[in-house]
Amino acid sequence: MTINICDGIEIEYGEKSLPYIEEVITYFNGNYLYVMDFFELKSIGKPVKIILNDDYETFKRQLANTYYDGDISKIRPYYNGYAVNEANSKIAIINYMSLPENYQSNSLEDLEKGIIHEFSHICCDAMTNYNYDDTYWVYEGVATFLARQYENSKLTASFEQIKNDEFVEYSNYRCLFDTLVDNYSHEEVLETIKGNHPNDLIDRIFSLCQEKTKKEHKID
Ligand SMILES: [Zn+2]
Repeated sequence: MTINICDGIEIEYGEKSLPYIEEVITYFNGNYLYVMDFFELKSIGKPVKIILNDDYETFKRQLANTYYDGDISKIRPYYNGYAVNEANSKIAIINYMSLPENYQSNSLEDLEKGIIHEFSHICCDAMTNYNYDDTYWVYEGVATFLARQYENSKLTASFEQIKNDEFVEYSNYRCLFDTLVDNYSHEEVLETIKGNHPNDLIDRIFSLCQEKTKKEHKID
């Protein structure tokens, strides 16, 4: 089944999603303009299709084929969606009720925020014409920030891990990106996303974020 959410954005879903599809659409409608406004985008420039997958195994296989050369072992137990941005934009997301037990992103809220997260990546691609800063802290930071995921996060990764762009918990990227937003103008934030920033920006952001973490979470 397919529903047109708004101009240029549609959602395809299966039977298992019927009980909550309306809520998912309402959540998306209430949040996607905020994301586009952040990137100062009037339009994405191409159709966006959101696919709500009912079957976890299918989802996992498609995700592995898209990003990990078919290696299913690379799928971490909190991945619930991904974006593919080619001729058309596609957001694939898994029905949270189809996730295995003990999976970390297994609520309706995770699903709704997951769609906004992937939508943020699509907007980021559109704003920068794919010329974005692809370090994790910037690229995943902006998506977790706009999707309001990992709220009140603390910095747990080391400076070396971030500086070397190692893959760490997403909460670190959210925390670092919050620090950027709190200390720089919106224009500077957008320029950072485009990769127009001094190389040592992360040095300053990291120490500010570290101070913030110490203060807010009372860590010595
Ligand atoms: Zn992401």
